[in-house]
Amino acid sequence: MSDSAAQQDPALLSVNGLVKDFGGLRAIDHCDLSVADGTITGLIGPNGAGKSTLFDLITGFIAPDTGRVHFRGEDITNFPPYRMFRHGLARTFQTPREQASMTALENLMLVPAEQCGERIWNNWLTPGRVARDEVRHRDQALEVLEFMDLVHMADQPAGQLSGGQKKLLELARTLMADPKLVLLDEPAAGVNRSLMQRLAETIETLARDRGITFLLIEHDIDLVMRLCNPVIVMSEGHHLMEGEPTTVRNDPRVLEAYLGGQYGAAGG
Ligand code: ADP
Ligand code: MG
Repeated sequence: MSDSAAQQDPALLSVNGLVKDFGGLRAIDHCDLSVADGTITGLIGPNGAGKSTLFDLITGFIAPDTGRVHFRGEDITNFPPYRMFRHGLARTFQTPREQASMTALENLMLVPAEQCGERIWNNWLTPGRVARDEVRHRDQALEVLEFMDLVHMADQPAGQLSGGQKKLLELARTLMADPKLVLLDEPAAGVNRSLMQRLAETIETLARDRGITFLLIEHDIDLVMRLCNPVIVMSEGHHLMEGEPTTVRNDPRVLEAYLGGQYGAAGG
């Protein structure tokens, strides 16, 4: 796609012709998809379909062999993750990556520093500014914890949070970036029903009130049916089909993809 075509592209995110091989295995096979602004788009597919790898490629954690990624009309292929983050593209990991010995609050305060390429000599050259930034980051982190209903956990070492709370903390980390698009990798996996309910409400609120667009990998069909429209189905590294959740659920190609894969296996 030429740059001028990309600028006319109404999609917030578009992926074109993405390919990624791991040795002899083609994990992503000419994948094309786009995410429209303002949607909560679901991404489903059997284990090994390439969903998490696609997130890694979109967010610059790994480089594609070929293909391009455009975000807000700009070619962001191969941008390093911190640059993506500053552009308003944030993601969570299938397995939470909290700093276990730091508190929940400190985990969030860390985010802006990481994304600014914080340098040790900042402390020498502009100590006043660094102190002011720290106050600002603390206020912002507390605000996010409050919004996520995690304030009571602020001073707990993150490693001591429950599995579900760690998932919420992952989502909270993305909010420190004031994101435009958030990619969530199985946010509900291992989360109990009441936390899942809160997670769903939080995502809906963020989409509605803050205009955040979501692309959401999820196996929990109830959550996908409730939250997502459209739903994109991936199979064997490429885009199989997409549509409204009920259309997708009733499409024989989708059932076949799951039956042909590791149907019934949890996670992925
Ligand atoms: P999904 O998230 O849809 O379950 P993944 O993206 O995790 O699928 O994996 C897609 C395929 O790529 C799988 O066959 C997986 O084993 C393989 N794969 C993923 N990451 C790596 C890696 N770093 N090295 C080798 N193979 C990988
Ligand atoms: Mg995965």
